[in-house]
Amino acid sequence: MAVSDHVDLPTFMEGVKKRNPYQPEFVQAVQEVAEDIFDFMADKEQYHAQQILRRIAEPDRVVSFRVCWEDDNGNIRVQRGWRVQNNNAIGPYKGGIRFHPSVTESVLKFLAFEQTFKNALTGLPMGGGKGGSNFNPKGKSTREIMRFCQSFMTELYRHIGADVDVPAGDIGVGGREIGYMFGQYKRITNQFTGVLTGKGLEWGGSLIRTEATGYGAVYFLANMLATKSQDLVGKTAVISGSGNVATHAAEKIVQLGGKVLTLSDSGGFIHDPDGITQDKINWVKEHKTHRRGRIEEYVEAFPNATFHAGKTPWGVPCDVALPCATQNELLGEDAKTLVANGCIAVSEGANMPTDLDGVHAFKAAKILYAPGKASNAGGVAVSGLEMSQNSERRAWKEEELQQMLKDIMSGIHDSCIRYGDQGGGYIDYVKGANIAGFKKVADAMLAFGVV
Ligand code: NDP
Repeated sequence: MAVSDHVDLPTFMEGVKKRNPYQPEFVQAVQEVAEDIFDFMADKEQYHAQQILRRIAEPDRVVSFRVCWEDDNGNIRVQRGWRVQNNNAIGPYKGGIRFHPSVTESVLKFLAFEQTFKNALTGLPMGGGKGGSNFNPKGKSTREIMRFCQSFMTELYRHIGADVDVPAGDIGVGGREIGYMFGQYKRITNQFTGVLTGKGLEWGGSLIRTEATGYGAVYFLANMLATKSQDLVGKTAVISGSGNVATHAAEKIVQLGGKVLTLSDSGGFIHDPDGITQDKINWVKEHKTHRRGRIEEYVEAFPNATFHAGKTPWGVPCDVALPCATQNELLGEDAKTLVANGCIAVSEGANMPTDLDGVHAFKAAKILYAPGKASNAGGVAVSGLEMSQNSERRAWKEEELQQMLKDIMSGIHDSCIRYGDQGGGYIDYVKGANIAGFKKVADAMLAFGVV
C-alpha cells in the first residue's frame, strides 16, 4: 500500500507553502479547501495513494508572457500576462481573464484552483483555468484598451481553443474587451469558434451571460433562506462592489422583494437608507460601466445617500450580505460585526472575498454562508451553456436559459447539502462545496491513472 501522501494537514500545507513562496492568495485558497478535504479523505486510501489533492494543487501549466503595446502618446508600455491552466480532468480549461494592477501569478493560481472546483459543481464538463494581466484599464482610452487586448491575444491565442481552454471576462474585462480579444483571435487563426465566452449577442454570445453571476448568487441565497422557511421579501441587503456582479446581484435582490442598502468601489462605499431601487441600479450601471465614473458620485445624484471614503460596507446592519468586489475584502472582524448586527446569510458573488478568519467566524456562528465557488458559479455555468450553443451553432431563448441557470444553482445547493449537512439544522456550505467539487474532479483523475 502506498503511504507517501499520508501526511497530516499541517505537513501538507507546509509543502504547499514551501513550493509556492510569496504566493499568499494561492496558499490561502488551498488551505481553505484542504481543511475540508483532509477530513473527507481520512478513510479513502485511493485519493491519498494517487496524491490527488497534491496534483490538483499543482497547475497543469502556468504560461507567463510579455505584453507590449503603444499608448496614445507613442510610448512603449510593457505588461505581464498569464494563463494558468489548473486542471482539465473533466473538460477544457475554463475561467476568466482579469485586468487589474493587483494581478500576480499568486492571484491567478488561486483563482484557477478555485475555478476547478466551481466548474465541477455546475455539473457541466469544464476544467479550471484563469488568466490576466497587471494592466490597469482605468484611465485608458478605448484605442489603448484595444491595442492592449490585441497584443495580449497575440500571445494567448496559441494556448487556447474551443476544446482546449475557453477564457471569459472578470474584473476589468467586460464585453468590450472580449470583443477586441475575439476579433484578434479570429484574425490570427482565421477561425470563428467558441474560443471565448461573454461574447456579444450578434457574434455567438448567450443571453443572460452578463446577468448570470449576480443573479445566480441571489438564487443561491434564496435557496439557503428557503432551508429556514424564509425568503428575500422585506430583507435588507448590504452589497460590495459596483461592477457586473454587484449590480446584477442588487437587481435580483430588488426583483425578489429585498432592499439594497449599499454598493462600493475601490474608493469607498455608498449607503442609501431609502434603498437602491432599479432606477438607481440603472444609474450605477451607466455611471460605472459606460462612463467609468466613481461610486462616490452617487450621492450627488441621490442626496439622501452618504459616501464613506476608504471603507467597506460591513458595518451597516443588514439581514443578508453579498461581497461582490474582490478577494479578501471581508475580514474576520467584519464577519463578526455582520453576525453581531443580525446578518443571517452571506452569499459570495466575488471569488474568495472572505479571508480565512472571516470564514471561520461565519462557520462558528453557524449562519447561512455560501462560498463563492458555489454561489457565484452561475456566470461560468451560463458560459458553459454559451459553449454548448456555439457547438450547436444555435441560440437558446432567454426563458430556457433563465430556467437552466436556476436549475444549476439549485443543483449546486443540493450538492452542498449532500456533503455539508452537519445535523441540527446546520449546513456547512464551504465543506459541502469543497467535497462535492473535489470528488468529481478526483474521480475523473483516478480513471486516467498517473498523468
Ligand atoms: P468588475 O470589474 O465589473 O467590477 C469589480 C468591482 O469591484 C468594481 O466595483 C471595483 O471597483 C471593485 N473592486 C475591484 N478591486 C477592488 C479592490 N481591490 N478593492 C475594492 N473594490 C475593488 O468585476 P466583476 O463584477 O466581474 O467581478 C467581481 C468579482 O466577482 C471578482 O472577484 C470576480 O472574480 C468575481 N466573479 C466574476 C464573474 C463574472 O461573471 N464577471 C464570475 C464569477 C466571479 P473599481 O471600479 O474602483 O475598480
